[in-house]
Amino acid sequence: MTTEELREALLAAPKNGYARLTAQERVEMEAHARGYAAFIDACKTERETVTWSVEQLKNHGFVELEPGMALKPGDKVYRSNRGKALMMAVIGAESLNDGARICVAHIDSPRIDIKPNPLYEDSGLAYLKTHYYGGIKKYQWVTVPLALHGVICRKDGVCVNVTIGEDEHDPILMITDLLPHLAADQMQKTAATAITGEQLNILMGSEPLDGEGSDLVKLHVMKLLNEKYGIIEEDFLSAELSIVPAMRCRELGLDRSMLAAYGHDDRVCAYNEIVPLLTMGTPKHTAVCLLADKEEIGSVGISGMHSFGFETFMHDLCHSTKASMYRCFENSFCLSADVSNAYDPSFPETADKRNNAALNMGVSIFKYTGSKGKGGANDASAEVMGHIRSVLDKAGVIWQVGTLGRVDQGGGGTVAAIMGNRNIVTVDAGVPVLSMHAPMEIISKLDCYMSMRACKAVYED
Ligand code: MN
Ligand code: MN
Repeated sequence: MTTEELREALLAAPKNGYARLTAQERVEMEAHARGYAAFIDACKTERETVTWSVEQLKNHGFVELEPGMALKPGDKVYRSNRGKALMMAVIGAESLNDGARICVAHIDSPRIDIKPNPLYEDSGLAYLKTHYYGGIKKYQWVTVPLALHGVICRKDGVCVNVTIGEDEHDPILMITDLLPHLAADQMQKTAATAITGEQLNILMGSEPLDGEGSDLVKLHVMKLLNEKYGIIEEDFLSAELSIVPAMRCRELGLDRSMLAAYGHDDRVCAYNEIVPLLTMGTPKHTAVCLLADKEEIGSVGISGMHSFGFETFMHDLCHSTKASMYRCFENSFCLSADVSNAYDPSFPETADKRNNAALNMGVSIFKYTGSKGKGGANDASAEVMGHIRSVLDKAGVIWQVGTLGRVDQGGGGTVAAIMGNRNIVTVDAGVPVLSMHAPMEIISKLDCYMSMRACKAVYED
């Protein structure tokens, strides 16, 4: 053999996804990107994602899972966990004792939440106090257009949905920053402290009501909220309000190959898990999709991936089909889909380029995530990596492997380990992202499309 022949036979030669994409796939990729852009604009919180998804599920013949209901192959069921997490399944031809094919994603994203006693006036300006949610770089969230989303449960027991800043006729909200002329002290601080948590105050208004007494700007804002939502100040105590970027998904780059939007992490994976499920026939194994809340703050609480809400759903599925939930878990396969770090040539020192995911190389498969010696990682076995490799190759999915940055540079976790703890074979997969957790994150259309194809392949395996 010549060295050229040896090279071809023995050495890996990763190719850009565009060199491997068929003409037909390219058409499907663009259509998929358009559908995703509409979804990500409509779903900026976990609640909105559940609402959107339930409507889609109903339109595609899914019904709410009732305990004890009779289930047969091909049946499509779902359960909303208190409007903040969602579980759905298409019953397979084989018994649940033989395991399910599970895809998991999270539908919460880093953002800025409103405090329980938020509204105040200072120096003729009205503000909301906030407490940020998840891992944000605080300095990125000042001076960008912001919107208010959420729900307020009034004293009369009625809960009203709130959205301010999304309609083009709506006003936007904003957090201010210091002018550079007077920022001599601020510019000497570290990026972590240049903007502090207690400075993330949302500017709400500046026009005082005509009248006597103090806080006339605050009173004006409260009056407007009362006119629109029927709320009084006390109702903030029973509200769940979040500040998110008021920007829409846009094509990025002259070649329009990328998408910039708020909340790709991790609603891009959620979308890619739902889409193939909607039109699925009867799969061999029961296909299950789980959309969890609270991943950005540790997957805890009633709507997080640690919650027994998942067990209850799986128990009900197994009970209805006379299977054992523990047998089912033991024989299941789970794709834990969460966005990954794309290689950023402007920050090469943070990555091991040989082992980093890159844009347009396809859906990324991670053997492990974690930090400092793989802490908190699921660390899929060689056998599991071998399995996912063959599933993806058989389905013609363009994929790559990745790791979470340079060793000891930082790191992080996903819900994969939580599924592993349940005795479910699990591997991490996701869409590479640039500027993760920033108000606008970046993905490529190709990776987004291939992530959907990967989920489809897992369901159908
Ligand atoms: Mn994530
Ligand atoms: Mn995240």
